[in-house]
Amino acid sequence: MSAPLLTLTDAGLYCPDGDFFIDPWQPVSRAVITHAHADHARPGSASYLSAQDGVSVLRHRLGPYAQIDALPYGDTQQIIGVRLSLHPAGHILGSAQVRVERGGEVWVVSGDYKTAPDPTCRPFEPIRCHTFVTESTFGLPIYRWPAEQEIFEQIHAFWRENQEVGLATVIFAYSLGKAQRILAGLDTSIGPIYCHGAVDSMNQRYRETGISLPPTTLVTEETHKDAFCRALILAPPSAQRSPWTRRLGDYAGGFVSGWMLIRGARRRRVVERGFVLSDHADWPGLLSSIEATGAQRVLVTHGHIVPMVQWLREKGLEAHGLQTRFEGELDEVSEESESKTNV
Ligand SMILES: [Zn+2]
Ligand SMILES: [Zn+2]
Repeated sequence: MSAPLLTLTDAGLYCPDGDFFIDPWQPVSRAVITHAHADHARPGSASYLSAQDGVSVLRHRLGPYAQIDALPYGDTQQIIGVRLSLHPAGHILGSAQVRVERGGEVWVVSGDYKTAPDPTCRPFEPIRCHTFVTESTFGLPIYRWPAEQEIFEQIHAFWRENQEVGLATVIFAYSLGKAQRILAGLDTSIGPIYCHGAVDSMNQRYRETGISLPPTTLVTEETHKDAFCRALILAPPSAQRSPWTRRLGDYAGGFVSGWMLIRGARRRRVVERGFVLSDHADWPGLLSSIEATGAQRVLVTHGHIVPMVQWLREKGLEAHGLQTRFEGELDEVSEESESKTNV
């Protein structure tokens, strides 16, 4: 019997027959990257392979000197003893599932993924495989996302209410992926849209990759406060506790995250409103995606590993937990360093 296609090492998930790592957490010689969020794309590796759509945002994360090779979705590359291809994961721009094949045996590593619609990235494509490595950030039956349209109606109503009382509307959302998804869904007839620098630089990467986003203006120190009273301002969660918000005058804040479904999460943050929009699959999304792969073996990573493994076993699948160092839906803590460099 040959060795497993992928195995867990101290540096991350490793493919011995292809001599590469997927989203390693230590520097390695060859890293295949599922997407550019900080917990999956770490600096220091000698070379990186990314889906073509993700190169621009990954470059932003890794800096000008990183060696990044691009692979279009669906194209196959032979890497030593395995065939590798990348397929849309629907999570953020350029996010990919990694398909690895050796002699007819197929493994797919999902990275982070979602099944809800998102105009800023290619939709999740289920890939048939024998072994599927799935995330489980929201892997509990309580997590069921409301329709996206409903959430945008709530955000628009909040914006209008604030306009009526002369308050700026600040929407705190992770600067890579979430902010662009919100931006793409906003009704621009309500008022002007401004962005914090961290969001603005990601918007630029999206636009240069060909994603159309509504027009936005960068908030600078010179922008007069009066400009904001009818505006919606998109900012990263960490900006909420920074002096940056003083530029805006009086405002009402809203926080956009899958965690907003949980009352406790909303209470812990000093925000007026929470909006439930996630860049991860909810419970039904996870289950339908796993089923669509046809995989008989499922390895469950970050999130609710134990209940998910148990549920899959009850369905007759072989399921195991896989202890990686990926985080769940990123919030203000993991974004701290980024906002410091992008004010
Ligand atoms: Zn992610
Ligand atoms: Zn993740």
